[in-house]
Amino acid sequence: MQYVATIAPVHEDGSECTHTGRNTQDSGCAGRSGYRASCAGGGCTWSKSGTWPSALAEDRSHHLNSHLTASTALQGA
Ligand SMILES: [Zn+2]
Ligand SMILES: [Zn+2]
Repeated sequence: MQYVATIAPVHEDGSECTHTGRNTQDSGCAGRSGYRASCAGGGCTWSKSGTWPSALAEDRSHHLNSHLTASTALQGA
């Protein structure tokens, strides 16, 4: 099972910001309020919001490690 956790910028209402951020007036971007890390794969719906991507990167790696630990335990059973 492959799990992929991504970190993306989000708006204040929680929607993902896909604007380039270069020219907010042209892109219609309402402004970014922070970042969200989310996991996809295997039906996992984990996500976490934060102000700084560096802090989320740490949470993300912890989360992915938990998947590794779980699959290892499963194989051992
Ligand atoms: Zn935006
Ligand atoms: Zn996950």
